[in-house]
Amino acid sequence: MTMMLEQERLQVAKTALAMLQTGLVVNTSGNVSIRVDDRIAITPSGLPYESLEARDIPVVDMQGNPLSGDLLPSSETPLHVSVYAANPSVKAIVHTHSVYATAVSTLVKELPAIHYQVVDLGGPVPVAPYQTFGSAELAKSVTDTMRGRTATLMQNHGSLTVGENVDQALARTITLEWLCRVYLIAVQSGTPSLIDDEELDRVLQQQIRLGEERQRRLNARGRRA
Ligand code: 13P
Ligand code: ZN
Repeated sequence: MTMMLEQERLQVAKTALAMLQTGLVVNTSGNVSIRVDDRIAITPSGLPYESLEARDIPVVDMQGNPLSGDLLPSSETPLHVSVYAANPSVKAIVHTHSVYATAVSTLVKELPAIHYQVVDLGGPVPVAPYQTFGSAELAKSVTDTMRGRTATLMQNHGSLTVGENVDQALARTITLEWLCRVYLIAVQSGTPSLIDDEELDRVLQQQIRLGEERQRRLNARGRRA
């Protein structure tokens, strides 16, 4: 018998392990999900990431109701469901309690544009006001704060990033953690200078141009092979 969303469940388990191995999470904190149409494969609640297999990853519908798997889905299932429902192009979500992102979430209302790579996250990263973990209020707070961004910090809690696939969502978590680390080092030493919106727009155009050129060359190589 074939397993529902087997490949996506494997990817969720693999990404959870990568989060642990790269130090983005400790123990069982954080969660990961992938959406396919109206089904979501999401990490189980509170289980060690080292030993997760495809069958350990619950699948839920867009209301968070169980469709497959016998383990308890993440306590943040309402958060994942809410972010997916508000953003149809989002196909994956990564949530962590990574050290630098969590530290910054306690200090500011927004991570400012200290480096051009904030463009990868849709611009300066807002901080969603604190709510209890796993609550409908937290789901609303984060969903409202995202407003077209691809990342948010969650006050006194951690980070959340989204992507068109899970590798992109994880890469954004890594970028966000690095930016928060740079920010904290900078503010300990002085007042960091910031990049203005006009310049961020130039960066975005530059990235689009390079992305298209990269793809053009890869396609040309593919045609030659
Ligand atoms: P779960 O183990 O239930 O996914 O909870 C971890 C977490 O990060 C809660 O915010
Ligand atoms: Zn959390």
